[in-house]
Amino acid sequence: MLADKDRIFTNVYGFQPWNLEAALKRGDWDNTKALMALGQDAIIDVIKASGLRGRGGAGFPTGTKWSFMPKEPKPDRPNFLVINADESEPGSCKDREIIRHDPHKLIEGALIAGYAMRARAAYIYIRGEYIREAETLFAAVAEAYDKGLIGKNASGSGYDFDVFVHRGAGAYICGEETAMLESLEGKKGQPRLKPPFPAGAGLYGCPTTVNNVESIAVAPTILRRGAAWFSSFGRENNKGTKLYQISGHVNKPCVVEDAMGLSFRELIETHCGGIRGGWDNLLAVIPGGSSVPLVPAKDIIDAPMDFDGLKAVGSGLGTAAVIVMDKSTDIVRAISRISYFYKHESCGQCTPCREGTGWMWRVMERLRTGDADIAEIDTLQQVTKQVEGHTICALGDAAAWPIQGLIRHFRPEIERRIIERSGGDLAPMQEAAE
Ligand code: NAD
Ligand code: SF4
Repeated sequence: MLADKDRIFTNVYGFQPWNLEAALKRGDWDNTKALMALGQDAIIDVIKASGLRGRGGAGFPTGTKWSFMPKEPKPDRPNFLVINADESEPGSCKDREIIRHDPHKLIEGALIAGYAMRARAAYIYIRGEYIREAETLFAAVAEAYDKGLIGKNASGSGYDFDVFVHRGAGAYICGEETAMLESLEGKKGQPRLKPPFPAGAGLYGCPTTVNNVESIAVAPTILRRGAAWFSSFGRENNKGTKLYQISGHVNKPCVVEDAMGLSFRELIETHCGGIRGGWDNLLAVIPGGSSVPLVPAKDIIDAPMDFDGLKAVGSGLGTAAVIVMDKSTDIVRAISRISYFYKHESCGQCTPCREGTGWMWRVMERLRTGDADIAEIDTLQQVTKQVEGHTICALGDAAAWPIQGLIRHFRPEIERRIIERSGGDLAPMQEAAE
């Protein structure tokens, strides 16, 4: 278990106030000017050496991403930092806690990251449903301006840096980085084709880095404590500490910071008081937010909770939103509900996603009730393959993967419903299962 002294988010439960006075006592904004005096490239080097990988889900190396930004921005093509606080992935709720209780870590991180990548402004795009969190963020930004921590000569560094908070309006797709840029520009939030990546052509066509809230909020602590300290947690390629968000059928759901790579069992036993009804009652886990495939109990228990550990069991770390399902779960219904979510949130721009998500959901609903033919399971599987990798953004993959995981691991359960519904004989299946 991570020692208290090694936690970055020391106020994640809000036991202390979020405000600047309390944040200063927690060590935020402590001689930020000296951190910036390290120099822009040196800051990027520290973040690279720390092994920090993007905490929004994709895990792209953060320091490398910052290094893509032009070192000498042209006056008519400034660099921008955009911070993705549109946390909408079902199961994810870590950025919400950071903004609620530790917003100054994010604002100080914005200044340091923005400075390192030669940006003069950061836009924090916060999801529309986070109403009180947005109020906190607006107030924290105002405090930082009042004290000269951001704005002209930010923190006495000689560098001018602005932070703008922009509220979304409740569209999941605006969390996709290029849809977010469209939305910030005042357009309909629809993803752009990549490449070009935002680093080449982002906000208003200018070089832009889009980073998740957690990725930015950990940066000041990494700089203060050093790359070696951060990379001492976890293992090769999976370094650092991480906010896990555990929901569902555990005794004590929570958001908690721990080292990358601890096993699922350790995570649940240490922080969640175990599985509801005991370990024998565990059915399956979606370990990284709704867009990663589920993992059956037998495969997840000893899996390391990091990028490579979860990839090895056919899933992914994603946002580390761990959704735990015990044996009381109607697993087909759960995945069907996720399918509905993606159908509802598809922006409709590309045909495989617009048509495919609706098609997949309708078949999922029939599989749920058993009103289907067994051959449709294979047809559904093939359709998920037609959607996966054939769309503009990752929403198509996100809609396909949960269904693929269900078919891979719970096919007998789907078949059982169909046979039962049609009044068929379940005995051969039961014998095969024994
Ligand atoms: P991605 O792999 O396409 O990109 C990751 C990041 O790296 C992006 O910022 C991208 O611009 C950058 N990048 C990648 N290749 C690059 C290159 N060659 N040059 C320059 N930059 C490059 O992934 P994505 O579509 O941004 O994100 C998908 C992930 O988002 C999923 O894994 C999912 O877990 C997660 N997600 C999170 C939420 C949430 O609420 N936090 C919601 C939905 C999805
Ligand atoms: Fe829109 Fe779906 Fe295409 Fe993404 S994959 S651009 S959400 S239609």
